[in-house]
Formats: sequence, structure tokens, C-alpha cells
Amino acid sequence: MFWNKSNKKEREYKTELCPYYLGANSCVNGESCEFAHGGHELRDKK
Ligand SMILES: [Zn+2]
Repeated sequence: MFWNKSNKKEREYKTELCPYYLGANSCVNGESCEFAHGGHELRDKK
């Protein structure tokens, strides 16, 4: 099904720290980045 892909992405949204943000302390994706920019943005993987 088509929506399975987006569901998967949604599920993994902000469940890992952003590699760009960790590396350079900044990220081109800003607030809309799919990765977390800090522990406060991390979501539970459930
Ligand atoms: Zn980012």
C-alpha cells in the first residue's frame, strides 16, 4: 500500500539525533528536520 512508506517515516520522525546538527551544530532543515536536534526533541520509538 502506498501509505505504508509515509507511515514508516512518520514512525521514525525525530527518534534519532540529527547527524548534521551533531556534526556542525546547525542543520539546513531547521525545525522541519526529521531528526531530533536535542534530547528534548527525541521521541519514543514505540
Ligand atoms: Zn536536522
